[in-house]
Amino acid sequence: MEAKNKGKIIIFLSTGVLTLGIISSNIKIGYGYTKNHKDFRNENLSDTTITEIIYNTTQEVNKGPMKSSGKVAYITIDDGPSKYTDRIIEILDKYNAKGTFFMIDRNMKSYPEQVKNIVESGNTAGFHSVSHDIHKLYKKNISAKEEFDINRKTFYDITGQESSLVRLPYGSKPYTPSESYKALVDANYKVWDWNVDTEDWKSDSNKILENVKMYSKNEDDIVVLIHEKKQTVESLDKVLKYLSEQGYELLPISQSQDPKNFWIGNLYK
Ligand SMILES: [Zn+2]
Repeated sequence: MEAKNKGKIIIFLSTGVLTLGIISSNIKIGYGYTKNHKDFRNENLSDTTITEIIYNTTQEVNKGPMKSSGKVAYITIDDGPSKYTDRIIEILDKYNAKGTFFMIDRNMKSYPEQVKNIVESGNTAGFHSVSHDIHKLYKKNISAKEEFDINRKTFYDITGQESSLVRLPYGSKPYTPSESYKALVDANYKVWDWNVDTEDWKSDSNKILENVKMYSKNEDDIVVLIHEKKQTVESLDKVLKYLSEQGYELLPISQSQDPKNFWIGNLYK
């Protein structure tokens, strides 16, 4: 088991012990307060030793939704929102999964209800520029940063929320000059690239699945790049089914986590 997984389990166990401790003490305080409290106070909690709690918690770790193979897949959806957004969210939900949508400014303005749906359904929102044009994005060192500032304002106007997650069109290498990248980091933007390119824009739905299989091989932490396209929506069910079967947890990117990108060089094992 990798060190990071051990860490996760230790944190989980500690939380479990703490929670049980709090529940246990609350029950003692509330004992006799209502019949329900009395009924709920069973011998399991009050007479359980710490060792037993840890053992039982470990059993819980090994089954059910908390089970973790340590494999994580971040499904990232570029170029929307679009008429496909709601359907993508539905398919993600079917697999109890959430994704991360990197959105283009004019599309947020054209599909504000879809922007709201992304947020309200618990998926993560990020930005994908105004121009989607490398000549405009890198005209000045500050140009890309300024485009994402515009994205932020548009997103805030629609949802009242903030995001600092961004994906550069065509990736942060080789097109992004170091000065442009630095300007984004200095402005606290978190730049995300990918390590599983489905090449969905030029593939049919079977080929998309094949690409996922090929590029995810031997990687435990994958950032999957898809776009809001017809063939992608057609393949998504199969792709998510495959990744679930391979033991990947399908998680949204969180605002607080460190980004993975070509500059940091932390996308591959
Ligand atoms: Zn794009």
